Amino acid sequence: MSTPLLRIARRFGPYLRGHRPLLSGAAAALVFSTAMRLLEPWPLALIIDGLVAGKPPALLASLEPMIALAVCAAAVIAIAALKAGSAYLSTIGFALAGNRILGRVRIDLFAHLQRLSLAFHHRARSGDLTLRLVNDVGMLKEAMVTALMPMSANLLILGGMLAVMLALNWQLALVAILPVPVLLLATVRRGRRIHEASRAQRKRDGAMASTAGEALAAIRTVQSLSLEPAIAKAIGASDQHSQQADVRAKRLSAGLERGVNLLVAVATALVLWQGTRQVLAGALSPGDLLVFVTYLKNSFRPVREYAKYASRLSKALAAGERIADVLDETPEITDRPDAIEAGRLKGAVRFRQVDFAYAAGGAKVLDGFELELRPGEHVALVGASGAGKSTIGSLLLRLYDPSAGAIEIDGHDLRELTVASLRRQVCLVPQDNLLFAATVRDNIALAALRPVGQEEVEQAARLANAHEFIMALPAGYDTVIGERGATLSGGQRQRISVARVALRDSAIVVLDEPTVGLDRDNERIVIDALRHLAQGRTTFTITHDPMLAADADRIVFLDGGRVVEQGAPAELIARGGRFAALWRGRRDEQAASGACDAL
Ligand code: ADP
Repeated sequence: MSTPLLRIARRFGPYLRGHRPLLSGAAAALVFSTAMRLLEPWPLALIIDGLVAGKPPALLASLEPMIALAVCAAAVIAIAALKAGSAYLSTIGFALAGNRILGRVRIDLFAHLQRLSLAFHHRARSGDLTLRLVNDVGMLKEAMVTALMPMSANLLILGGMLAVMLALNWQLALVAILPVPVLLLATVRRGRRIHEASRAQRKRDGAMASTAGEALAAIRTVQSLSLEPAIAKAIGASDQHSQQADVRAKRLSAGLERGVNLLVAVATALVLWQGTRQVLAGALSPGDLLVFVTYLKNSFRPVREYAKYASRLSKALAAGERIADVLDETPEITDRPDAIEAGRLKGAVRFRQVDFAYAAGGAKVLDGFELELRPGEHVALVGASGAGKSTIGSLLLRLYDPSAGAIEIDGHDLRELTVASLRRQVCLVPQDNLLFAATVRDNIALAALRPVGQEEVEQAARLANAHEFIMALPAGYDTVIGERGATLSGGQRQRISVARVALRDSAIVVLDEPTVGLDRDNERIVIDALRHLAQGRTTFTITHDPMLAADADRIVFLDGGRVVEQGAPAELIARGGRFAALWRGRRDEQAASGACDAL
């Protein structure tokens, strides 16, 4: 139990720093309310000793009995009011601090997640990460306010009551704390098991959120393959496992609570036995015995409440660990301390003997890859699926770093430039681009990374052959796009994506299979848009389509991460090599489909 706790304390401790005044105020209120709690049984004890047993303590001896009674009765109200007021202030203070601190943790966690490399995101599941961001942070906050704060209050009370009890009658106090070691042992042992069960539950919840998230993100595939029952079954199974772990944690904590209650009863019986004998022998006043028994009931509260809060706290601890796990991941792609701003680049690109593998020690995807492009040149990367074409694009965007060799733009190694400024200069038109649930205008404009007016957006849309279809939408540029671009066709989405890149003043563009899945009419419009986009920019077109490749100045044919053939399209076709074979295959296919169309 202590190691995760230490880890959480070390991880989140620094977050408390900025909130010291609030936390100190809340803690002071807590200490004050604890003192009031300690005072609570005293008026009754004074009344019993002074008025009932007829042995008024010095404090009340000089007062008339009725006035003494009135003072005690007023003290009951005053103590209760002060206790309630300070407890309220401390609760509010801790709740405020909890919200502010965990709000910061959430922002940092998300920023960190966005910085983590693609390699991490390929490994992790997005549903689980979302759960960590939303649910685990919430759980930590909730536990801080509803479990941690009362627990610290209870510990303070325990300390205070033990001190008062020891001062009143140390022999009786020792009898009272006899069961404490047993309690501590039971609590620690059970606590560890409760923590394990809670951790298992959080893991199951993460898996469930991931499955649900993935299934909903790919709902089209799920529905078209009739996978709904299988997915529902998987979710049901995850849920059942999560429930089982939850019930296990609850059972353990309920068992602990029962055990604690029994031990408290034993301690109370011992104190009653020993205490009453002392009262009868005149060694203890009845009022002091009353204070003892009341304190005893209250002093085991921390332990009893620990049992009650154990599962909540353990869950929070498990949640905290899950957050710490992510925060402890170090981004693989970071700015070097001496990294410089890229500024406006010309776009001369050079790959020098680049080796790359996705996993350390794994198969090399690129092996001694060499390629040089002059500014503004348009190169098509062609080759079979898995040849390493997209990997080249990812390396150029510095989503990964090469395992060996270097990539240079305008003579700068990519690692010499800050990541943000590099990515402003290298733009990607992905195969399936993401549109946000916002207006068409915002979807285009967001890529500019600066405020842009309607005119600029429209100009970019015209370049991307998108202006006409946008104007035909119900609200033109103000039309809100459905999530995942559901209201636009593949070709229209692709053109929005081109317009986005057109707005950016970038020197290099990477087009990753930009026409895949488009029908011939759309393909033609998109290719035309891409031609406009490529003008004045160094362009990489990743494609397995020889017709699209033939649009480039140069074709680079890849196989197994190496260049096997390169040259101008016409030259390669005339040479009769691998590209020529691909070209002929596609031409024959088209001729055949043309014949079909004619039928
Ligand atoms: P292409 O774009 O030419 O189809 P890729 O560059 O996507 O090829 O992939 C090259 C090789 O790298 C393939 O064998 C593929 O399985 C592997 N690969 C691609 N992406 C990853 C990844 N994220 N993790 C591990 N291996 C990958």
